[in-house]
Amino acid sequence: MVTKTNGQWALGEHEPLNHNEQFKRDDDSLNVRARIEETYAREGFASIPADDLRGRMRWWGLYTQRRDGIPGGQTATLSPEELEAPYFMMRVRIDGGVLSTEQLRVIAGISQDFGRGTADLTDRQNVQFHWIEIENVPEIWRRLEAVGLETTEACGDCTRVVMGSPVAGLSVDEVVDVSPAVEEINRRYVGDPDLSNLPRKFKTSIAWLPDAAPEINDVSFVGVQHPELGPGFDLLVGGGLSTNPFLAERLGVFVTLEQLPEVWVSVVRLFRDYGYRRSRNRARMKFLVADWGVAKYREVLESEYLKAALPDGPAATLPATKMDHVGVHDQRGGGKYVGFSAVAGRVSGSTLESVADAAEAAGSRRVRLTPYQKLIVADVPDDAVDGLIEALKPLGLNADPTPWRRNLMACTGVEYCKLAIVDTKERAHRLLPELEQKVADLSPDTPISVHLNGCANSCARVQVADIGLKGQIVTDADGNRVEGFQVQLGGRLGQQADFGRKLRGHKVTSAELGDYIERVARNFIAGRTDGETFSD
Ligand code: SF4
Repeated sequence: MVTKTNGQWALGEHEPLNHNEQFKRDDDSLNVRARIEETYAREGFASIPADDLRGRMRWWGLYTQRRDGIPGGQTATLSPEELEAPYFMMRVRIDGGVLSTEQLRVIAGISQDFGRGTADLTDRQNVQFHWIEIENVPEIWRRLEAVGLETTEACGDCTRVVMGSPVAGLSVDEVVDVSPAVEEINRRYVGDPDLSNLPRKFKTSIAWLPDAAPEINDVSFVGVQHPELGPGFDLLVGGGLSTNPFLAERLGVFVTLEQLPEVWVSVVRLFRDYGYRRSRNRARMKFLVADWGVAKYREVLESEYLKAALPDGPAATLPATKMDHVGVHDQRGGGKYVGFSAVAGRVSGSTLESVADAAEAAGSRRVRLTPYQKLIVADVPDDAVDGLIEALKPLGLNADPTPWRRNLMACTGVEYCKLAIVDTKERAHRLLPELEQKVADLSPDTPISVHLNGCANSCARVQVADIGLKGQIVTDADGNRVEGFQVQLGGRLGQQADFGRKLRGHKVTSAELGDYIERVARNFIAGRTDGETFSD
């Protein structure tokens, strides 16, 4: 009798390999950089073999881009060669979303010189370019690395960008600034071949404030006060959305800032060794945590990796309402930080250059990107706040947005993503003025978040939105197969984190989306009691 294994290395289960495991074993994915610089950038797109093109190049933040004009309905029917254009999406990893205005200018310049002006702010605090040609990749790396930025392990089965509080070091509510721990992780472990072959992608959130989506990362550290040991961190593992969502679970331990990098790398190594590699669908760490339970997970982490027990610790307090930092806020040490909302994270190279100009004119040299596709300018003197807000308003960056604008997110969608079935970014841009006009009386205190995904994945976190929209082809009233969305209602992060409910047959065409959301919002406004939020 053949016993099926999960492909856990720690148990000696190295065979059989799926295709991804095979190419990762054949050659460390980080090695593709030398081939890009020495061969592909000189010989062009056609010279790139398939396993590098659609596999290893992700470890350097590069995905092939969807061919222009292919409708979402054809996504499942075309081969990769038919679907992809000879261009790349390139993701710049920006750990904690921390940028100087000098770095922002370099990003803006790359967008304008090599990305046809594209630059999207992602909900993991990255910047994403499109239309990148392989010939220009070495020059882009040169420019990025000259100012301390990189694309290393921005995608792929490795430790991706470390999410952090976008107001780390700025907030008056913060007790411990995690920047030293994040810098140490970056310096010691990003690009380390020992960690470059994980079962699947691995997502991290490290923040004192609970504002970097700790519930939905593979590993999260959130600030807590221990009654005897002082400030430190609660550790959560096994969160993630995608097609099988799980909320992260507390291990019940207490971690100090000094211990944090060692505990983080131990969690990564545990995942590398025990994570499931047989099937891609079960390879995220959340499946291991669900199968083991937290008691076994903690025991293995402590006994096999840390070689010491961690003390028990208190639970972090998750926020009652979303912390997106939009608007004007007092900054620790004086002055203000100001959070701006773009529509669904879409900006451009010229916009980012203007942001750098305006920030510097206001006396600032520091900018942050947030987990909600927003942008913050720090260190703004009190008397420069109004001028900064006025300077950014014509660029579509608003410090006092309507509740609809503030709470709208969208993934990349059919414009560039090869997996997409429907349009998202442009749809969000058309939807916003419609909602602002139709439901102008939505209260800022009880907003409704709307997240649009282009497919069944969850790059825009649909399961934790008030109205989550998952792109698919639906049937309209005349029987035509058209772009639309499956709806999930009432999801949220924070104190009562939960996934939205899928109502049977609850689907809407893209064309009817504005009317549909208006009806849902009107029902909510008519029936809500004092203090009731949409997800209540
Ligand atoms: Fe692409 Fe789907 Fe992710 Fe949107 S949710 S970016 S369509 S993979």
